[in-house]
Amino acid sequence: MAEAAYDTDNIFAKILRGEIPSHRVYEDEAVIAFMDVMPQGPGHTLVVPKAPSRNLLDADPSTFGPLFTVVQKVALAVKEAFGADGVTVMQFNEPASGQTVYHLHVHVIPRFDDIPLKPHTGGMEKPEILAGNAEKIRTALGN
Ligand code: AMP
Repeated sequence: MAEAAYDTDNIFAKILRGEIPSHRVYEDEAVIAFMDVMPQGPGHTLVVPKAPSRNLLDADPSTFGPLFTVVQKVALAVKEAFGADGVTVMQFNEPASGQTVYHLHVHVIPRFDDIPLKPHTGGMEKPEILAGNAEKIRTALGN
């Protein structure tokens, strides 16, 4: 079955255009990163290419180099910022996989020995907690 077209009014497109707020930790010419508002653990960050695509399946392959360069930077930063034991990197494609926002993005989540992830798109985190976590990550990134 053919997949739906890219929707320019998806929530991450609005964040990219500055129409709705986000707790941003990183930006360059190709990529932004900001806090997930329903984190699966403290420091859960989303890394988002500026180029429009629904997900990995329809993305131009030139998107992946800059995107995963930032995924690595953010993974190292969240590990340092939260004193994590490891980092989970996840990415979903289409509803059957669990995708809920249809602009390509990669989840970067600091992990701690023996602590499971909270549910995907569970509860909303308090803005002040997200702001504090974003500040820690920006510091680790040297921003
Ligand atoms: P996915 O299921 O991979 O499409 O994940 C989308 C993610 O975006 C979920 O983890 C949501 O918690 C997160 N999310 C939804 N709306 C926002 C928002 N306005 N700002 C930051 N994260 C969001």
